[in-house]
Amino acid sequence: MPRPTIAEIDLSAIAHNLRELRKLAGEKVEMIGIVKADGYGHGAIPVSWTLSAGGVKRFAVATVEEGAMLYDAQLPGSILILGAQGLVEVEAICDFGFEVVVGDLDFAARLDEVARKRRRTVDIHLKFDTGMGRVGFPVEQAMKVVRRIAELPGLSVAGVMTHFASADERAGAEFTREQIRLFTSLHQTTHAINFRIPLWHACNSGGLLQYPEARFDAVRPGIAMYGSYPSPETARPVELREAMTLKTRLAQVREVPEGATVSYGRTWTARRASQIAVLPIGYADGWNRGNSNKGHALVRGRRAPIVGRVCMDMTMLDVTDIPGVCANDEAVLLGAQGKERITVEEVATLLDTIPHVVVTSLTGRIPRMYKGGEQRK
Ligand SMILES: *Cc1c(COP(=O)(O)O)cnc(C)c1O
Repeated sequence: MPRPTIAEIDLSAIAHNLRELRKLAGEKVEMIGIVKADGYGHGAIPVSWTLSAGGVKRFAVATVEEGAMLYDAQLPGSILILGAQGLVEVEAICDFGFEVVVGDLDFAARLDEVARKRRRTVDIHLKFDTGMGRVGFPVEQAMKVVRRIAELPGLSVAGVMTHFASADERAGAEFTREQIRLFTSLHQTTHAINFRIPLWHACNSGGLLQYPEARFDAVRPGIAMYGSYPSPETARPVELREAMTLKTRLAQVREVPEGATVSYGRTWTARRASQIAVLPIGYADGWNRGNSNKGHALVRGRRAPIVGRVCMDMTMLDVTDIPGVCANDEAVLLGAQGKERITVEEVATLLDTIPHVVVTSLTGRIPRMYKGGEQRK
């Protein structure tokens, strides 16, 4: 028998989020399925099949290895590699027939060379840096870039894109509008020279939820597809459902006397005789050590505080105030139990981080179980 610690993924929640986000974006706007980092920890392949059933035709990952996994799954549609690709990945990109983001000319030249040698063309998405300050061509060089790329017969421009630096922060609104303005003007000037590219895209989740003027031809909502808003400040124009439930069962319940301390560093002391439940999950599962003495798990439909330091393989709860708790009771760390719910967003806020980190941190030691959706293999 395996450990009872599992992440249950409700694929019908992802299908629901896709429908809601598509309604928001408008039927004409393509939804790009963002399934990097193993579908934000939800499992890239089952998530992609669910998105595919909902009409998604382009799947975006960060690395060639992630792309190869989708390729092997034989999903219909194209695979777009988003991350920072080096020259070593060029051959694989070409051989798998991936689309790839291009934001520098040396990379473009090498890709072209390899593509021509193999008598193929690679579909690329030109990335412009409108303010993210990470990768992408400077917008001022747009004309030079477009001209230079046009001279590379091994490349075919399928898209033009940019990425927002702070679309989910209230304080970033002005900056985001400036990024949109730069991208819009790029769209206009390149159209004026007859550089007509099918797909213009800019929006991540924050952009899609808050900037209707930035939808262009396609959108790239990641975390919203999995059901979390990117930040507490983000507007909530649609009702999203978090797809992940992280749960386990109490390994034991022990009584400790007043004055006893729990776990490493003795950071928690029982103020009264207490019932302490031991959960078989720890930071090696991706349950962050920052949850020490913070946050809760649900037991018998109620919130039990996490006490003491989270260990590599165990986490302790104070269940003194919940009557009848016994070993093997279910404990929910993310998701609902009875009428109570702990959201990914709540845990992210407690940890002073973003929902993306909470879900992508869960390691391979936690089996993913699926319900409610398109499942193949
Ligand atoms: C990851 C990623 C996204 C999705 O971001 P979210 O904040 O999860 O919506 C969109 N675009 C690019 C280029 C990305 O790398």
